[in-house]
Amino acid sequence: MLGLMQQQTLLISDMIEFAEKHHGDTEVISRRVEGDIHRSNWATIAARARQVANGLDQWKIAQGDRVATLAWNGYRHLELYFGVSGSGRVLHTLNPRLHPEQITWIVNHAEDTVLCFDLSFLPIVQKIHQDCKTVKHWVAMCDPDKLPSDSGIPHLVSYESWMGQQSHQYAWPALDENTASCMCYTSGTTGNPKAALYSHRSTLLHAYACALPDVMCLSARDSILPVVPMFHVNAWGLPYSAAMVGAKLVFPGAALDGKSVYELLESEKVTLAAGVPTVWQMLLAHLKSGGLRFSHLTRTVIGGSACPPAMIQAFNDEYGVEVLHAWGMTELSPLGTLCTLKNKHLALPAAEQMKIRLKQGRAIFGIDFKIVDDQGKEQPNDGKAYGDLLVKGPWVIKAYFKQEGASPLQDGWFPTGDVATVDPDGFLQITDRSKDVIKSGGEWISSIDVENIAMAHADVAMAACIGMPHPKWDERPIVVVVKKADAKVGRDELLKFYEGKIAKWQIPDDVVFVESIPLGATGKMLKTRLREQLAGYQLPA
Ligand code: ADP
Repeated sequence: MLGLMQQQTLLISDMIEFAEKHHGDTEVISRRVEGDIHRSNWATIAARARQVANGLDQWKIAQGDRVATLAWNGYRHLELYFGVSGSGRVLHTLNPRLHPEQITWIVNHAEDTVLCFDLSFLPIVQKIHQDCKTVKHWVAMCDPDKLPSDSGIPHLVSYESWMGQQSHQYAWPALDENTASCMCYTSGTTGNPKAALYSHRSTLLHAYACALPDVMCLSARDSILPVVPMFHVNAWGLPYSAAMVGAKLVFPGAALDGKSVYELLESEKVTLAAGVPTVWQMLLAHLKSGGLRFSHLTRTVIGGSACPPAMIQAFNDEYGVEVLHAWGMTELSPLGTLCTLKNKHLALPAAEQMKIRLKQGRAIFGIDFKIVDDQGKEQPNDGKAYGDLLVKGPWVIKAYFKQEGASPLQDGWFPTGDVATVDPDGFLQITDRSKDVIKSGGEWISSIDVENIAMAHADVAMAACIGMPHPKWDERPIVVVVKKADAKVGRDELLKFYEGKIAKWQIPDDVVFVESIPLGATGKMLKTRLREQLAGYQLPA
């Protein structure tokens, strides 16, 4: 017998309609590329999203066609999020930090038909436009008077003159909820990037999940600042979740330095901010140097790479801000786990609670995970056994775009490429990317553990642990360190700092001090490039 409930499809257009109807005057604030602060609200965003949809209709952009963006976090980008997907086209966010050649490859692979870009990325567009064969329309996300007259890009229009002349009226199409809504390419540190192609349904379910109390606990009382970019995995779904709960949104634009972010956090009374550890490092340094405090911030979501314990402690102990450590990836839309305590942990001493908070967290309803050995045998959840992490759920990919015939799944599970342990309470701890795993004398050493200890030293700004070939042990770890300005720590002192913190055989054999560690397009350490840089390096005898 079937239930007698309404069959309501889950569509992105429903989220913006909801935000307009029930939270129309809730603000959406953006620091613009021009430097000024722009104030909008959900009602205006919704009306302008409908203008975008009409603009795409006028250009006869077909359903399913890809509309690309090359843009910072801001209100126009948000309008495109809803206008493009809501009208049945696929929003394709491009990562401007990639090399122009890679961007060209991605645009051609995705067969983008429209490309909307912030003026700061004009130089990239000037480099690539002749090689982007499928793009018919180039849109500069600016006012008409800011449109460069000599850009060299044929038929370039300003966003405002294109969508501004369209009607505010638009009937969102009743799409199948499995229709593709947005796409994002992985950073492709090895080989060509691959695209995750999200659907309306997966995006909506992910947005619901993010808002849950044990996840980001989002509500209409929040003022949310996503530092995490809208150009990579949809800013962790925050634009959608914010619309769904009617939260205020605050966009930092291009200014991601500590001072600019701090100013916005304070002036817009931000309660929750989200970003990768490298961004928070700049913010914490700014706070420390100026003796500043947060007036409204209560929690910050940190993920994308392992959050160093020293950072969690600094936020928690010095500034009273709760860190929500999250793990995810492009193929998971991106959220997989987030770390919040359980009821039984509340009575634990603060130090014990902190040990749990350092982990990547528990599964969110919808996501299931398990760890397996080389033979695919499930490993125990004892917090010690480690294995390859497999996941499944309604917002996990089943195939990559244009590779539909070659499913990456193993018995329905997606192999993440991460290595992890799971404790008896279900808390996941990532020890490594499988390609970064260090094997010494048959035993694994977690590069994340080694890095976290170095990061806890007051003189260390950044640390990367990599394995070096060793005649007896196969591999031995070394730690590559960037010192803080004017810091004095030397090799021997840092190696001594490891004593008592991990097993003796896990202590790195050497410390190599460098000016900087190469970062990839999503702000993560690029260990492949670091290894190339250290090509001539030899372990101490
Ligand atoms: P890419 O950089 O290839 O596009 P993603 O941005 O999707 O990939 O990053 C996914 C990877 O980032 C994960 O598989 C994992 O290795 C790493 N990662 C994400 N969050 C965390 C975290 N909290 N701790 C450790 N590693 C993390």
